[in-house]
Amino acid sequence: MFGRRKRAERAGLPDAWRSILDARSVHWRLLDPGERDRLGELADWLLRERRWEAARDFELTDEVRTLVSAHASLLVLELGESWYDEVGAVVVRAGAMDRAPTLSGGRGIVTRYPGVIDGEAHHDDGPLMVSWAAARREAAQPRWGRDVVLHEFAHKLDMLDGTLDGTPRLDDEAVPRWVKVCTNHFEAVREGTGGRILRDYAGTNAAEFFAVATETFFTRPIELQTEKPDLYDVLAGFYRQDPAERWRRAAVATPVVSQPRIVVRYAVPRPVDSTGS
Ligand SMILES: [Zn+2]
Repeated sequence: MFGRRKRAERAGLPDAWRSILDARSVHWRLLDPGERDRLGELADWLLRERRWEAARDFELTDEVRTLVSAHASLLVLELGESWYDEVGAVVVRAGAMDRAPTLSGGRGIVTRYPGVIDGEAHHDDGPLMVSWAAARREAAQPRWGRDVVLHEFAHKLDMLDGTLDGTPRLDDEAVPRWVKVCTNHFEAVREGTGGRILRDYAGTNAAEFFAVATETFFTRPIELQTEKPDLYDVLAGFYRQDPAERWRRAAVATPVVSQPRIVVRYAVPRPVDSTGS
């Protein structure tokens, strides 16, 4: 168990842990060696210093702990672990759960999808809950634009300054532009003029806007940067990361992977009503 190792023994990631992330996390595969080492130290801190619990009928395997802690750490890769001081416990469930719709934005529970939800984050030292089925699926398919771990931990970042309002703690000079840019895009989502890159749930309230924008920033960064460069910029300023550059670098490094798919998709003529690709 990672949590039982002493600090002095931490010299890089255990091979077993790297293998899990190699197999399960696209984000991990995009990081450079220095970023991987930093992310490993942050994940190790989260596993040792925060409480981890399994919901009933579920087991916290190394795979579960590694993947969830690694994705949580991606958000604070350049911010540091102090941003997670108020994560009371991380609770992992096998799948989604039914939850009566709750108001978010107050000092209560923040649910991701009222009704059947994949995650929720509680205020102050309260717990954070994620569905393993969603976390695992979304780690393998970031292009879908969703990541329940990034979403719920983004709420914890937002809460750290005492208010859940879609604005995390920022340098004073960054606040006016942040508020202006986020308000513009939030209102566009609510009015149905925001395009398709941010899903409708971003229009629920300012807190959900920040959580959904964070998911999009890390999972579909190139599209976000292209469609909403000012939103991408303020998020890059806060997170101190440039995930679009990370994705572009990976695309250049693996042309062999993407090229044949393009040939297959466009070189084979198909009748218009074909159900094939
Ligand atoms: Zn949420």
